[in-house]
Amino acid sequence: MDNCLFCKIVRGEIPSRKVYEDDLVFAFHDINPARPVHLLVIPKRHIASLGDVSAADEPVLGRLLSVANRLANENGSTEGCRVIINSGRIGQQEVPHLHAHVVGGPEPVGPMLKRV
Ligand code: AMP
Ligand code: ZN
Repeated sequence: MDNCLFCKIVRGEIPSRKVYEDDLVFAFHDINPARPVHLLVIPKRHIASLGDVSAADEPVLGRLLSVANRLANENGSTEGCRVIINSGRIGQQEVPHLHAHVVGGPEPVGPMLKRV
């Protein structure tokens, strides 16, 4: 995807504070952290959202989840973390390249959702 922000980050065309990379996923600090630890873990191959995954994407989705807690731990969230994937209009996803927010820090992150 030529014009995708996170694809450009994977290719190094836009700088990021990278924390991890392997054959399937890439992880970096969120530019506008909501908690002391706020990482984004993304598939290296462009997938727009959870609404676009297929069975062929299961290895990358598995990898994404299996590295999330370890990356949180290594970056200062040593007693767990929260993993959030916003998807589509209802999930209020802003960047159309699938990403897991991994948030944490020394203190609990707070209520899961504001009640409406
Ligand atoms: P979402 O609303 O789930 O699509 O989240 C998009 C996230 O991407 C937000 O938390 C932004 O702060 C983050 N973000 C946007 N641009 C960048 C960037 N260039 N580097 C790192 N994080 C970014
Ligand atoms: Zn992309």
